[in-house]
Amino acid sequence: MAGNWKMYKTPAETTRFFETFRSLVANSEHCEIVICPPFTNLAAAIEAAKGTNIRVGAQNIGWAKEGAFTGEISGPMIHAVGATHAIIGHSERRQYFAETDETVLKRTQAALEFGLTPIVCVGERLEQRESGSTEAVLTEQFQKGIAGLTEQQFARIVIAYEPVWAIGTGKTATPEIAADAHRAIRAQVRSKFGKDAADAVRILYGGSVKPDNVKSLMAQPEIDGSLVGGASLDAVSFASIVNF
Ligand code: PEP
Repeated sequence: MAGNWKMYKTPAETTRFFETFRSLVANSEHCEIVICPPFTNLAAAIEAAKGTNIRVGAQNIGWAKEGAFTGEISGPMIHAVGATHAIIGHSERRQYFAETDETVLKRTQAALEFGLTPIVCVGERLEQRESGSTEAVLTEQFQKGIAGLTEQQFARIVIAYEPVWAIGTGKTATPEIAADAHRAIRAQVRSKFGKDAADAVRILYGGSVKPDNVKSLMAQPEIDGSLVGGASLDAVSFASIVNF
């Protein structure tokens, strides 16, 4: 269960979140818990998560180890501060910051090279769903953004299916719609990396997951976890999602 804080919270607000959140998930051993705050809050989150089962991740990662890439943060930097995960290819990065499937692959390879678990996001826009091209979009994102990994690399990634029309809109995909998309992604995995890889890969659903809809989504065997935006900003709300 992963929380994406987007561009919200200061370090002091991060510390306050953890003061409440820590005890609410202290006994939550049924899943991995990851919080992805802005880069400026990674240190505060990692300090506040010490001694707990909560992991901390970045929301993006540069594809180079270092260099003249103003505004980027590299894998070694994220790893050195103590983070364990990195969200890659979130639709907001694709939409506003020209992220492409090609850069998603490069960033994923960098995360793996520097010891981080990538959470690679895929998902269709509303007009793509309405025109019946959801599966084609997911296939293209998989083929260009993920299929270039080796089997060993693939075994270390997490995929997040996030239909763009459901992110931050309050419109959740029905559990059936989400499960269909997860099946389509898993079929791609099967044909590229084999049955064992398809069975093992964790596919998270993201898009307006809230305490009151998480149970029905997680009831789908295809859905292995959630990537939560807005509802992860509040400690009580995210804890009730984690403890669905
Ligand atoms: C997200 O940012 O990944 C997300 C799913 O946002 P929300 O839960 O707010 O729709």
